[in-house]
This record gives sequence, structure tokens and C-alpha cells, in this order.
Amino acid sequence: MTIKSKTLGILGGGQLGRMSAMAAARLGINTHIYCPEEACPASLVTPYFTCADYEDETALKAFADKVDVISFEFENIPLKTIEFLKKHKPVYPDSKLLEVSQNRLIEKDFLNSIGIPTAPWAPCHNAADIEVTLEKWSAEACIIKTARFGYDGKGQIFHRVSDKTEDSWSTLNTDEAVIEGVIDFDYEISVIVARDLKGQAVTYPAVRNDHKNHILDKTTFPAPQLSEDLAKDASEMAHKIAEAVDLVGVLALELFVTKQGALIANEIAPRTHNSGHWTMDACAVSQFENHVRTVCALPVGDTTPHSAAEMLNLIGDDVIDLDKYLNMPNAHIHLYGKTEVKKGRKMGHVTILKS
Ligand code: AMP
Repeated sequence: MTIKSKTLGILGGGQLGRMSAMAAARLGINTHIYCPEEACPASLVTPYFTCADYEDETALKAFADKVDVISFEFENIPLKTIEFLKKHKPVYPDSKLLEVSQNRLIEKDFLNSIGIPTAPWAPCHNAADIEVTLEKWSAEACIIKTARFGYDGKGQIFHRVSDKTEDSWSTLNTDEAVIEGVIDFDYEISVIVARDLKGQAVTYPAVRNDHKNHILDKTTFPAPQLSEDLAKDASEMAHKIAEAVDLVGVLALELFVTKQGALIANEIAPRTHNSGHWTMDACAVSQFENHVRTVCALPVGDTTPHSAAEMLNLIGDDVIDLDKYLNMPNAHIHLYGKTEVKKGRKMGHVTILKS
């Protein structure tokens, strides 16, 4: 008797694709990576790789022919690419979620429409919009973010009333942005939800995220200070989003916890997330395995942690100083196979199990 192994196609070749491919291998599922860059982190862990542009319909069709189901590991895949692939093979999560998370204006509107609070916001299409909005809010400052393609603090600017609006607007170099009120938050958390084809949804417990230079530095589970009630509310918000977009796959919700103890949603990532890397070592089923399970029509798996954990990102030069982790008990090292060390580049992470 023989059993046919499934092949999962993943658009994008970064570390998230790499870790999903490794989780897929444990389940006997092959992964085919599609990425415009050669020797990307994900392509190094699977023999099935297409190096082509996301607009190359001949390459996309050939890729679709070789896989059973398609997913993606980053949110800036052109919607047109997904719509094209959908004609040939199932693609999860659906493009509706991608559309929401690719544009901060659509994202905020969507979150508010399902009753999830965000920072006060207004669309911005020119310098005058900044002035008008600040006056309307009687605010001293705001954060302006490009509607698309922002990450790790890129594509955003802190603007004070004393700053020249023309300067702030031209620095952003965009024609569409969102103006956000500045949230005086205490700390930041995130929740990851996984939902399968039968609609069964589970969340990992909320974690605390600490950033350095706008890049995630440390994730801590259990989240210090976070009350059970707030953790439950955060989880319910993630479930609500998953239901509203009929999620098949994994998504992350990033939230601010204000000094008054309220939750304010910041953004949605339609994929596995850096703040969920700890689940690889502290849970029976990691966010990556749940990504693979859900998009490959398997049931979503148990998200109960068996240990407390701290995940530390290895950014840029951090990766050179590995010795301390190599000799540390309970340290689980994960490197992404990137050979070029660059300032601000995520080279790997270490999860330290605490109990
Ligand atoms: P983002 O690119 O939206 O994830 O923002 C990057 C970081 O900027 C967040 O993790 C926060 O630390 C900070 N930030 C973003 N939006 C706001 C806001 N409305 N108020 C205060 N801080 C913010």
C-alpha cells in the first residue's frame, strides 16, 4: 500500500515560510516555496522551489499545478496573484483577509465595524488633512502611517503640532496614509488565532511584546501584569476577527494595553507572527504546525502551553554572540539560514523555557 503525500505551496520565502515548511515536514507534508529571491530562508529547507516574480502567470500556473493547496507567509503578496491562483487551487487564508490587512484604512474600518476599538484615526491624502485632523481632535501630536507596506516602524512618522505638515507628509512619500491618535499605552500584547476548515478556532494565550527600535525584541508568556479578564477579552477579539473573515489559517492581532487597562487594537497580521515563535518550544502544537494543519484541511491542534517561555529575537549582530545560548539550559535556538548580517535584520530567535 502507498499513501500519497500532500504538497503545500507557500508564497514568500522568509523565516515564517521556513518554519511552516519544517512543521509541514513533521506531518509528512511537502512544501513548495514560491519566492522572487534565490536562496531565501524557506527555500533552504525544501527541495521544491520556484524562483519567479509574483506577476509571472506562467510560473504561477506551473506552481499551482505542482501543489494541492496554497498559502502565503507575508501580507504584501499582490491580490491579483492570489485571485489568479484561486482559479487553479484553493488558497488559504482567503484574499478578503489579505485585502483588510494590506491597507491600514480598510483594516481600521473593518475592526471598528465588528466592534473592536482602535486608536482614533482619519484618512490622510495630503498635508492639509493632518492640520484639519489635529485641530478637530484638539491634539498636540499624532502618528501618521502609510496605508500600505509599513512594518517594524517603517512608513510612519510622529508628528507634533509644532512640526511643518508639508515636511511630515513629504517624508512619508505616499498618497494614502492614516492619521492615528497617540495611545499612551502601558505595554503591548498579541494574540494568535488558528481556525480550521470546519470552523473550529483556538487561540494561544496572549503574550507581552517588548520592542527595541520598533522591532520586536522579546515576547513573554505568561504576559506579566496582564489580568485574566484582559487576556480573555483579547482572545475573544481574535476569535471575532477569525469568524468575521471566515479564517482558514492563522492570524495575529496586536494590541495596546492602556494605562487605564483598556485594549486597543493596533494591527492584524494575516499569518504566523514573530510573537508566536515561543509556541514552537512551549506548546505541543506550534503556530506553524497549526498554520499547516488548518490550510491542509487537518483539525486545528492544542494550543495549551506546557511551559512558561521568553522568546528573544536575534537581530543583526546578536547572532554572532550565540555562545551564551549554546550553553544555556532550556534555550532553544532557531536560526533562519541568512548569511548576510544586516542592522535590524531578523537572523534567528532563542526561546528560553522557564518551567
Ligand atoms: P505598527 O507599525 O503599527 O505596528 O507600529 C509600530 C510601533 O509603533 C508599535 O508597536 C507601537 O510601539 C508604536 N505605535 C504604533 N501606533 C501607535 C499609536 N497609535 N500610539 C502609540 N504608539 C504607536
